[in-house]
Order: sequence, then structure tokens, then C-alpha cells
Amino acid sequence: MKIDLIETPKHLGKKIDLFGWIDARRDHGKLIFFDLRDRSGKVQLVVTPENEELHKKAETLRPEWVIKASGEVKKRPQNMINEKEPCGKIEINVSKLEILSEAKTPPFDLSGDGYEIGEEMRMQYRYLDLRRARLMKNLIVRDKLILFIRNYLSNLGFVEIETPNLSKSTPEGARDYLVPSRLHPGNFYALPQSPQQYKQLLMAAGVEKYFQIARCFRDEDTRGDRQPEFTQLDLEVSFTTREEVIDLNEKLLIELVKKNYPEKIIQEIPFPRLSYKEAMEKYGIDRPDLRTDKNNPNLLSFCWIIDFPFFEITGEDKWTFTHNPFSAPMPEFMDDLLKQKNIGDIVAAQYDVVLNGFEIGGGSIRNHNPEALRAVFKIMGFSDERIEENFGHMLEAFSFGIPPHGGIAWGLDRLVTTLQNEPNIREVIAFPKTGDGRDLMMHAPSEVDPAQLAELGIEIKKSKKKK
Ligand code: ASP
Repeated sequence: MKIDLIETPKHLGKKIDLFGWIDARRDHGKLIFFDLRDRSGKVQLVVTPENEELHKKAETLRPEWVIKASGEVKKRPQNMINEKEPCGKIEINVSKLEILSEAKTPPFDLSGDGYEIGEEMRMQYRYLDLRRARLMKNLIVRDKLILFIRNYLSNLGFVEIETPNLSKSTPEGARDYLVPSRLHPGNFYALPQSPQQYKQLLMAAGVEKYFQIARCFRDEDTRGDRQPEFTQLDLEVSFTTREEVIDLNEKLLIELVKKNYPEKIIQEIPFPRLSYKEAMEKYGIDRPDLRTDKNNPNLLSFCWIIDFPFFEITGEDKWTFTHNPFSAPMPEFMDDLLKQKNIGDIVAAQYDVVLNGFEIGGGSIRNHNPEALRAVFKIMGFSDERIEENFGHMLEAFSFGIPPHGGIAWGLDRLVTTLQNEPNIREVIAFPKTGDGRDLMMHAPSEVDPAQLAELGIEIKKSKKKK
């Protein structure tokens, strides 16, 4: 296997083969220096004039060409040492060069952090943008964090289970992405807004401790830092309490920061807790940024927000849930829920976790009493038929012996963004979409072949011409 360039100093005195991209070339008289780059870092290569053919070849090399270089790993002369670079004490004395791929000049500079480059351009050539060290690092750190979470939860007996992406519409507050069914014309799947119902059904199945690094889809209008598809750490536990779920997540977050970001400081442990009412009264927002020093990039301020109102009035003077229709009320409000009275005062067993002013997760203890769940939908004005049609499967599942359960989901993109001190979630997503949901690299969404539409029994009413 190829040697990671950052590992080259370990091979001092040996002749090795290296592979990578030309990063920059500097000619010093007869000596040609260039930096070879791979995902791990850079190393300096030197071509001396003795071997004329080799020297000629080296002269042709341009940035972003992909090469194989063979040569000896040598100490740099004292005056050439660069203490700041991980490979700054060595260089490769090249004895053989092989050009594996030539490259056009990239449409933008890949050497800096890239913040100054127009984002549409960066998205169109994302595979080039990802070559820059900052973005490559974000991808690698993201993987490390996910692996950490997986190992941590696995050690506690959690089982990662995949749930379907072709699913049924769920009432989670956003618009669904619909997928037409070819075999059942006129019928549609919905892409999941979250695995909420499936994870609860896994509790009905007796899984007890579930998690998933899950992709979620929400067809929302452009709103700041959102993506039509995003990633959650989704988890659910049976026979649990609000205290237990909060404690589990708090410990996981603390360990995650300590092991992966030793330079960061968590402002307060245990994380402070505020009721929704307190947060609104004190800070006017339910995701307050409690950092005492907002200029310190290594300061992390977590807090929990609890005791959310279950329902709120919508514009049409109807009740709707504030977070999740499947949440339980706090026990002292169960009676009111069942009787559908004092609706505005009912408090949900909902908790959100906030980091530096961003909501990075939310969950609840669930309502596992079918009658109480039915009451939630009744309060929202659903008829018995609609409840049966939309949620009959959940109510039925809860009638066969359902353990009390609860869980949470983290917005993984947002968490990684904050930990990496990035300005938005697109910087930690390999292939993000624009604010209006376009993939500029793949040119999606796009029109499809009329034959595909015919097969699906779909007719486009009138083509909406793009501006
Ligand atoms: N499914 C919820 C969400 O996506 C999270 C949860 O309650 O577990 O916000």
C-alpha cells in the first residue's frame, strides 16, 4: 500500500516510492524542488541535474499532476530545515519519476483555506475543493468522531440498525420528499425526516438499545444553515428515564471532546439545565449561547433545555406539537392530556442539547400509552379515520406490549461544524447542496427521460422554465 506522505520521515535513509499530486514547484537554478501532496500532508522532492532525462521530465511537471516518485529520504541541509512542517526536516532525492495523470489548471486556488472563493464555484468543482487541506481534514475528523461514537455506544450494548429510506410520510413538521412508486402507480414513498417511527418500532421489537448514523431528508425552504439531507446520530433506549438519556448523552459528548479535542475546554460540567421558560425569560431564545468568552475558539458551552410546552397554536388557530408528536407529557400532565384540557400548559418530556448557541440535539421520553398518543392527534384536530390511516401501525404496535422508551437525535453536521470552528455545515459535508437544494456538480435536480415518467404514470402539467 501507498505510504502516507506524512510518514516519510520514518523511512529516513531508505529508498521509497511515493505517490501524490504536485502541489507547488520551485526551480532554483539547476535544482528543481516540488512539494508532493496527498491527503495526509506534503513532502519536498528534489531533482538534481545529473540525470538529464529525469531533470527534463521534472521540468514538465505542473500543479495537480499525479505522479509516482522514487528516491531516497534524506535529511535536509541545516539551512533548509522548516520546523513548522511535519516533514520539514527531510526531503526526497528523486531518482525516478512516473507521470500517472496530467491536469488542467484548476479553476481556483487549492492551497489556502478557500473561504474567499465563491461557494458556487467550490461546489461545482467540489472534488477539487476537497483537495485543500482544511476540507480534507474536516472529512477525516468527521469520520473519527463517528467512529468514536460507534465504539462508545457499541461498548454500552447499543446496536446500530439501518432503517428504510423508502418510507411513509411522517408528521415531523417539515415537508416530505416524495418518491413515486412504479409498481403502485399513484402511490408514493416518502424519504424519512428522521427514523423516529422505525426506532420506536424497534423498541416494540425488543431491541432495547438502538442507534444509527442516519440520513434524514426534509424539503424545507431555504433557511440559513440547512441542507435538504443531513445526518443524525439517532438513538433510542427502552426502560429508561429522562435523567438516564440526558446522562448518557452528556457523558458521550464530554468523552468525545476530551478524546478528540484535548485543546478544548468545556465551560461547565455537568451541563447547566434551563427550563424552556427560564431560557426564554432570561435570554429570549431556547438555545442560548452561554459562553463567557465568545472570542475563544476552544470554549464549548453546552446546556440542556427541558420542560418544553407540548403544543402551540398555529396560525390557523389549531394546536400542533412543538417538537415531536410521539413525546410523552411529563407525568403530572398525563391526566390533562388524556382529558384534552389545559392544552397550552401541558409540558412535554422533551429535552434539547445546545452548544454555543446551536441546537445540536433533541429528544424525549415517548408516549407509549396508545390512548394518550391518540389524544395528542385528537388535540391536533385529526379525525379517527386520519389517526388510523396515518398512525394505525404505531397504535397497533403499542398494543402488543411496548416498553417505556425514549431517545434523542443529534444533528451531527452541526456538531462537527462547531467543533471544527467552521462557519457553516456545508464545510463538513463532502457534497453539500446550495441553499435552494441544487447539486451544482451533478446538476441535480434535473429533468428526466419522458419514458421514465411514463413508466411511473406521471405527467408534468407545465414545464416551469428556470430563470
Ligand atoms: N426524531 C427527532 C428529530 O429528528 C429526535 C428524537 O426525538 O429522537 O428531531
